[in-house]
Amino acid sequence: MELYNSGIIEALDLMDSGEVSPEELLDAVFQRINSVEDKVKAFVTVTKDRAYEMLDEAKGERGALRCIPLAIKDNICIRGIPTTCSSRILKNFIPPYESTVTKRLKEEGYLLVGKTNLDEFAMGSSTENSGFHTTRNPWATDRVPGGSSGGSTAAVAAGECLAALGSDTGGSIRQPAAFCGVVGLKPTYGRVSRFGLVAFASSLDQIGPITKNVADAALLLGIISGHDPSDSTSAPLHVKDYTALLSEGIRDIKVGIPKEYFIEGLDPEVESAVKDSIRHLGSLGCSVKEISLPHTGYAVATYYILATSEASSNLARYDGVKYGFRAESKDLLEMYRETRAQGFGAEVKRRIMLGTYALSAGYYEAFYRKAQQVRTLIKEDFDNAFREVDIIITPTTPTTAFRIGEKISDPLQMYLNDIFTISVNLAGLPAISIPCGFDSKGLPIGLQLIGRAFDEESILKVAHQYEQSTEWYKRRPPL
Ligand code: GLN
Repeated sequence: MELYNSGIIEALDLMDSGEVSPEELLDAVFQRINSVEDKVKAFVTVTKDRAYEMLDEAKGERGALRCIPLAIKDNICIRGIPTTCSSRILKNFIPPYESTVTKRLKEEGYLLVGKTNLDEFAMGSSTENSGFHTTRNPWATDRVPGGSSGGSTAAVAAGECLAALGSDTGGSIRQPAAFCGVVGLKPTYGRVSRFGLVAFASSLDQIGPITKNVADAALLLGIISGHDPSDSTSAPLHVKDYTALLSEGIRDIKVGIPKEYFIEGLDPEVESAVKDSIRHLGSLGCSVKEISLPHTGYAVATYYILATSEASSNLARYDGVKYGFRAESKDLLEMYRETRAQGFGAEVKRRIMLGTYALSAGYYEAFYRKAQQVRTLIKEDFDNAFREVDIIITPTTPTTAFRIGEKISDPLQMYLNDIFTISVNLAGLPAISIPCGFDSKGLPIGLQLIGRAFDEESILKVAHQYEQSTEWYKRRPPL
């Protein structure tokens, strides 16, 4: 196997046994970036100098990520490195502070390879909303990698890093992981500090790992999780050793299959791969039963009211005064207006308008408050289901990766791509997407496993044991 295709744990073994040096690993990753990045376009900024500086500092240290090259989504702040959110409005923004997640990775000795592309401010499902360029799916470069963490998932799938971090507000880690044939984990809301993550919708946003296998996701989760005094929504709960729990038995695990997720619009090839996987889990000893999540049909509408409302408030800070880009103009009001008109792309403007409308006097009760009430019903659906089962399994996406340009002019079609991932954010639950097959075009299919709040270990161990008894996760794109 090529060195750049290795996962974290594999690479640590190779370095610990002396077979490969940290320099050789980092060189292999940058050679790979040189040879494929033109085709994939996963990065906004490649940080080669920083990576070799970090290598010098980390050599000889014994952290859990000693000299492991990782990529970070470009909405997570790293001191001294541009953080753009793939937006023209933040094009020249260099954060003077460090996010808690990257601080924790640094304490364990990781090397920063670069900052990855996303849909502007994480709004989208394809990276086509990036203010800079569209990332390509390494499995078929005329197709999208998914989004908004499409740069991170494409970089992992293409071997341009060993693993990456993304953020997930409505599916942005899991949907692109499914499209790119890699593992993507959205932790429970509150499990991971959001300090230093540029806010999109604060009651939904969560940072998580994107990796080549489940064990690597467990390792990264353990490092980035835990209470942080700088984020009042981070939970003061004990963080388990997820890696050690992966091989625990899964015979007593009860798996629920929600009937509302096998609907019209679900691609028959995706459906059959997911059903095969469910049978496979049965053969591994899990018991399987049908369940119901009756408010599923309201999730997309609820999400697009709440997420846009929160975004309209969070994005008010980009006024040409505090950060980044400023348009030259004759007076203050025109400066605000022009900065925002030129700095934001079409999707961001659409969402600011939708959210402002939903929060305005006279509409607040009908839209925003109603959506909050429906959010509670969606969460209660899961509470009820988790009285009967331990984890819930669904397809991650209704289809495999679509073509670049196919949905960009129809926002509703684009929004429907998240139909299976959004409820999880509304309910604040953990969920993971893992590869579970390929369609007849050779495109990866994702399986989503959803757990109880703060029970990441159950989905991780079932995902790990499924993965290790299949071959899907070993395939690499033929770039
Ligand atoms: N695709 C969804 C949206 O456009 C989710 C994005 C995300 O999770 N950041 O809002």
